[in-house]
Amino acid sequence: MAGDDHGAVHNHAGRIEALRRLVAERGADAILVVHPANLFYLCGFAGSAGALAVTADEADFYTDTRYGIEAPATVRGAQVHIARKGIIAEAAGRLGRRKQRVGYEAGHTSVEQQERTARAAGAKVSWAATSGVVEELRMVKESGELEEMRAAGRVATEVYEEVMPLVRPGMKESDLAAEVEYRMRRKGASGAAFATIIASGERSALPHARASGKVVKKSELVVMDLGAILRGYSSDITRTVYVGRAPARIRGWYRAVLEAQEAARDALRAGMAAGRVDEAARRVLRKKRLERYFVHSTGHGLGLEVHEEPKLGRGAKQRLRAGCVVTIEPGIYVEGTGGIRIEDDFLVGEGEAEKLTRGTGELVEL
Ligand code: ZN
Ligand code: ZN
Repeated sequence: MAGDDHGAVHNHAGRIEALRRLVAERGADAILVVHPANLFYLCGFAGSAGALAVTADEADFYTDTRYGIEAPATVRGAQVHIARKGIIAEAAGRLGRRKQRVGYEAGHTSVEQQERTARAAGAKVSWAATSGVVEELRMVKESGELEEMRAAGRVATEVYEEVMPLVRPGMKESDLAAEVEYRMRRKGASGAAFATIIASGERSALPHARASGKVVKKSELVVMDLGAILRGYSSDITRTVYVGRAPARIRGWYRAVLEAQEAARDALRAGMAAGRVDEAARRVLRKKRLERYFVHSTGHGLGLEVHEEPKLGRGAKQRLRAGCVVTIEPGIYVEGTGGIRIEDDFLVGEGEAEKLTRGTGELVEL
């Protein structure tokens, strides 16, 4: 998850302290964290197998021998233990030394895993299913995180600007995706935030089409959805272009989607219910009788994961907070013709949202 170490300095100890307060609010004395993105956030561990036991006065991180060199060098804010008998067994054993109520990440733990954990902890521990505790902290970004997210947004934008001129008849979707991912790495990304979507012609009507072996043809829409990971943090942008001169109908659709994005951005501010932002985009498309072609939510939170809190979906009650980073990505998908999506990343503030990605505007005709 982490790239080189020239990034922002993160206050891991402060995050663990904030976690303790949240855990206490939920009626628990301690928490066992296992989700990799949450471990990275809390203690800087970038591996795939670890567990962090946070009590009122201790923070102990467990991983296995594969990370015997890396973990002591990179983990911050917690005591590092290299487990010999199993990560969860040892973390749970530590929590079981005293009588306490321990929260576990219900959303990231199977019933079977939790049963094993409880057995390893023993009778002194009672368990509470907690969900989204660390995710709630992650939702509001610190300035160091915003630095990384701006950099991730910049890389995605630059890569798009470089690859866009390569879109032409005869070019294979998968070759364009390869150009995208190669250039991301050359610009310092540790990888793509998700499998790059390049969808041309009728395929562009599939919101989640991966790049295929299909060749781009004249008079087609091409949807490009890409994101880069920079020191753990993701960007996510979508651009739609037309190969050739676009018919008036397509241009009208494009303008409607762009207008929907602008309306959602205007609604995007601290204190607003997430569903109101979704509704702002939807209303524009409804007026133009295009709402039935808008088949997904308006956006999602973005950070250490590509899809995180808050979700900008229909009727979502969650209140947006200053420091949330979200995508706004209205789209329309017409079977047999194609699709149009425009996606940018925004930082929520008290006033107008800051755009972390650059560009969009009128439809590009190549
Ligand atoms: Zn996207
Ligand atoms: Zn997205």
